[in-house]
Amino acid sequence: MKRILRAGFLAACMAVLLPAVLWVVARKVELPALAEPVEAEPLPVREDEPAEGQTEEETLAFDKAQLVQLESDGALRQLPLRDYLAGVLMGELPPSFDSEAVAAQAVAARTFTLRQLQQGKHDGFLCDDAACCQAWLPEEQAREKLGDTLYEQWYVRVLDAIDRTDGQVLTYDGALIEALFFSCSGGRTEAAAEVWGGDIPYLVPVDSPGEEDAPRYCTRTEWTAADFRAAILAACPEAGLSGPPETWLGECEHTSGGGVKQVRIGEEEFSGASLRAILGLRSTLFTLQAKGDTISITTYGSGHRVGMSQYGAQAMAMDGADYKQILAHYYPETELITLPGA
Ligand SMILES: [Zn+2]
Repeated sequence: MKRILRAGFLAACMAVLLPAVLWVVARKVELPALAEPVEAEPLPVREDEPAEGQTEEETLAFDKAQLVQLESDGALRQLPLRDYLAGVLMGELPPSFDSEAVAAQAVAARTFTLRQLQQGKHDGFLCDDAACCQAWLPEEQAREKLGDTLYEQWYVRVLDAIDRTDGQVLTYDGALIEALFFSCSGGRTEAAAEVWGGDIPYLVPVDSPGEEDAPRYCTRTEWTAADFRAAILAACPEAGLSGPPETWLGECEHTSGGGVKQVRIGEEEFSGASLRAILGLRSTLFTLQAKGDTISITTYGSGHRVGMSQYGAQAMAMDGADYKQILAHYYPETELITLPGA
């Protein structure tokens, strides 16, 4: 009897699970052919003039034809790249941004998306976590956040940025680049090599002036000597930290992007990345100062600081740069090409 019940239970589970598995498999099969490795054949480039018999509307078709699988709020959905990018720009940028900064972000986000799909990240899906893939804000949430009037104005600018860069991506050596971006560098971007090791010729430090108005441009925190000591010793008891606080902080070695590469705290050497994690700092671009019983920490920028700074792009746009100049600045040595529509 028990065995029959178990068999019945298994059959019931299969009846429920099998269609779900087949659904997922079927959806994966629907993914457009972008699964080639990055080193695959050269990317096709769109001709400047529409081919004979082709309308301009048809040539502006890459983002509408390309499908993206997105996991958001625990659900899986498939949508055209154009709609996906609109949600990304809504989630990544504030509505005050200039149209050239938005267009630069559209190209970077398109390139990032296609490269993730090519490389089979999450088995062919993208998620809406900004720290993992890219932020993505659906229309109803964007409306709620901005109000209807601002939403409508912003949406027009976002969609215009996407459409006038339709199919445009950045390449290096004929392959899609790793188009990393972040909110604010604090004045200079960082080399990919300093964060992950391994040189990437187009992810090198560049100056990023004009970011002072960014919300996370500069963060100051003050620690009591006792709290600072406790945090350091919890992570690294060998640091010691005896004697007066003024003697705790040693010489700092910097990266080419201005971040902290190495610093001595007490008896131990810490990398900028490990100190960032221990003290919960926004980036590795920070200074430490001991005065009396207080340790002051000033941090500039936020995140890994590799690639395009969104607030730096906005500053360039306000200075008259167009999106191509912005992209060429933050991703040097790369080429902007246009992928053909369907
Ligand atoms: Zn992800």
